Amino acid sequence: MIRSTLVGQRSESVRRANLSAIVGELHARGGSSRSELVASTGLTRSAIRGLLGELTAAGLASEASGASLGTPGRPSVRVRLNARGAVVIALDVEVDSLAAAVVGLGGTVLHHERVTRPRGHLAVDEIVADLADLARMARQALPHDARLVAVGAAVAGVVRRSDGFVAMAPNLGWRDVPFGSRLARALGGGFAPAIANEADLGALAEHRRGAARGVDDVLFISGEVGVGGGLIVAGRPLTGAVGYGGEVGHLPVNPDGARCGCGSTGCWETELGERALLVRAGLPADGGREAVETVLARAASGDATTLDAIAESGRWLGIGLAGLVNVFNPRLVVLGGLLGRLHPFVARVVEEQLDRRALPAPREIVRVVPASLGIDAPLLGAAELAFEPLLSDPASWLGHRPREVQLSTA
Ligand SMILES: [Zn+2]
Repeated sequence: MIRSTLVGQRSESVRRANLSAIVGELHARGGSSRSELVASTGLTRSAIRGLLGELTAAGLASEASGASLGTPGRPSVRVRLNARGAVVIALDVEVDSLAAAVVGLGGTVLHHERVTRPRGHLAVDEIVADLADLARMARQALPHDARLVAVGAAVAGVVRRSDGFVAMAPNLGWRDVPFGSRLARALGGGFAPAIANEADLGALAEHRRGAARGVDDVLFISGEVGVGGGLIVAGRPLTGAVGYGGEVGHLPVNPDGARCGCGSTGCWETELGERALLVRAGLPADGGREAVETVLARAASGDATTLDAIAESGRWLGIGLAGLVNVFNPRLVVLGGLLGRLHPFVARVVEEQLDRRALPAPREIVRVVPASLGIDAPLLGAAELAFEPLLSDPASWLGHRPREVQLSTA
């Protein structure tokens, strides 16, 4: 009896792991043929058939004949996850905008809304209330057969993963804010949203669906007002002990530098962030998005002062990257936000600094590219974060009572 119980438990945990492998693969690729699933998961054809049967019966997946594409023979059967079978609401708190999206299993974006807001410090309560409104609007935009399973949020700050506590968000003016519990209360429904730093989530999204797809050692650097970083090491996010890691914007790079929002001086973001660029380009430090557009337009028209200002940002970018490349040995550096837009103008100077300052061996293998998901990378990463529990154990979603979260209507 004991033996058969153990065997039963083992086969159940194998089944759960296999389901997770299949759902993870389909979620990342959008869809696959059974043969592709055999190749990518290493499972047998019959095991895959059985597990797909379970997913299909639960409404999470469906199979359909692919277009024959004019090739002879039977059209292959494509397996897809049903976007409405499980959806998440993703939220994003940036320095000058808030966003919400509804994302279905498989990565389909079913609803998207971004609202700009004036920069400057805003009370947590106001932001939380606005986010809850955006989430409710997103909920209303859902098809009624869609099953909402989780909410995820990205915040431009230093975030504890376990409960969404924001230790510091200098550019929002927050310090020691229990953002996770406030947001949970505003959303109602008695569930905890998953919350993480925006650059960490940008890295996750670029890794799963963007410029870093298929690359397992990635450094994502995102620059706007602040400079954030997200690290993927051996395919997994590197977050530090509680989630505060990756704050590359606060690497001290210039002992004689300017005061930083974090309270220190000469952090990387004081040389690389938007304010430094605007000042060097002869524009007001607080010029915001409009001034940034002016800089980019002037650069495109070949204005020498502006190009010099951008090159100086590029030099600091290369200096910081050289150190990070030496420490982390990434294959790919992905530049997001403003840094992604500056990439065409700074690519050469960044490469020069890497040649000059990084160790030859790690330098040789690293490539620097712009992000491909643009401003929505953290928002899409928040959706991926919200999907994590389902992806890691889809079996627990196959029961008779689907787990669903409700938002209060208040
Ligand atoms: Zn700092």
